[in-house]
Amino acid sequence: MEIVNGQYTASGIALEEIANEFGAPVYVYDGNTIVNQYNTLKQAFAPIDIKVKYACKALNNSAILKLLKKQGCGLDTVSINEVLLGLRAGFEPKDIIFTPNCVSIEEIQEAVNLGVHINIDNISILEQFGTIYGNSVPCCIRINPHILAGGNTKISTGHIDSKFGISVYQLRHVVRVVKSANIKVNGLHMHTGSDILDAGVFLEGAEILFDAAKDFPDLEFVDFGSGFKVAYKEGDITTDIQELGAALSARFLEFCESYGKNLELWFEPGKYLVSESGYFLVKVNVLKQTTATVFVGVDSGLNHLIRPMLYDSYHHIVNLSNPEGKQRIYTVVGYICETDTFGWDRKINEVHEGDILCFKNAGAYGITMSSNYNARFRPAEVLIYNGNAQLIRKRENMDDLIRNEVDVQL
Ligand SMILES: *Cc1c(COP(=O)(O)O)cnc(C)c1O
Repeated sequence: MEIVNGQYTASGIALEEIANEFGAPVYVYDGNTIVNQYNTLKQAFAPIDIKVKYACKALNNSAILKLLKKQGCGLDTVSINEVLLGLRAGFEPKDIIFTPNCVSIEEIQEAVNLGVHINIDNISILEQFGTIYGNSVPCCIRINPHILAGGNTKISTGHIDSKFGISVYQLRHVVRVVKSANIKVNGLHMHTGSDILDAGVFLEGAEILFDAAKDFPDLEFVDFGSGFKVAYKEGDITTDIQELGAALSARFLEFCESYGKNLELWFEPGKYLVSESGYFLVKVNVLKQTTATVFVGVDSGLNHLIRPMLYDSYHHIVNLSNPEGKQRIYTVVGYICETDTFGWDRKINEVHEGDILCFKNAGAYGITMSSNYNARFRPAEVLIYNGNAQLIRKRENMDDLIRNEVDVQL
């Protein structure tokens, strides 16, 4: 986002005008940012041709999926419906991995029938999978290396109390099940959770996976999940992709040599690919001065962007309507009948009722975590690409709210 001719723009398009044209609240994504992030990640790991499986739970609009597919990206899915969305967007089954947690064996069978890669994250399902398929369908195994990473316990998945993956301490049990059911394990996976601060954590996890690989002779790929940290605030430490890429790809090549085969190296970024591409635009309904604070009340709330309330995440807030205005201190809140504070004591260019505010880093886990709470409509979505802004999802309306209700006589 940059100021051009006195207006905040993304890839040359004035953001406030998007709000004027499509209405607020609206999610806007800059497709160029997504493509740049994808290319940066790929290049950081050269000489290895890494396979990127976009974790589509972050943002699953078909236009975004198609844009990433066009770059050569695959897909990481966590529900059968995400698999179906991926197939509908044109992904080949072989480019999709299904990495669910605590789903039923029936859902896994559905995914097998659709031909996608299966990633198994508990021994009970592994046993059932082996009983049904033997070595006729390969699977990947999700290992929990128990590396504590990331800031928020709700999103870090590698710790000892985590429900994710099969503990690395249970490897002997896994090997026993694999041998007795004659399962073909074609991949090993770990996803240590969001927000990894340094390359060292990744490398530690990598060693654990490389070590485990000795027990599985049929591997075709190793999947390191995600957890790349992106900057939300100025000065935030981010994962140094260049450093990680150089160190891990060198180590990976060594590993392949000792394993005796050139395996594929996979990653499943969500946030890294789409977070920064997203701008959530809202309109200021009211300025409310209390004895202690100046509140800015906007036409949105935790129903549209829940991350600040759920994870204490920081989203930078910019007043698109007053780029030159002098900065004042505000607390920005939503219109939901719950406490839904987007940000306390934020320095924002002087705000007036009717102004359009912009939340940055709204591409990941924004609209996909939205709801109809307080009987509000989910916002529209707009994609900036090829020099123009296009609607990629209509704002909901009253019909959407009542679509599945059943009329009964009382
Ligand atoms: C959520 C998730 C990801 C993506 O995590 P980000 O922090 O958005 O990059 C990757 N893999 C799996 C299995 C996930 O559940």
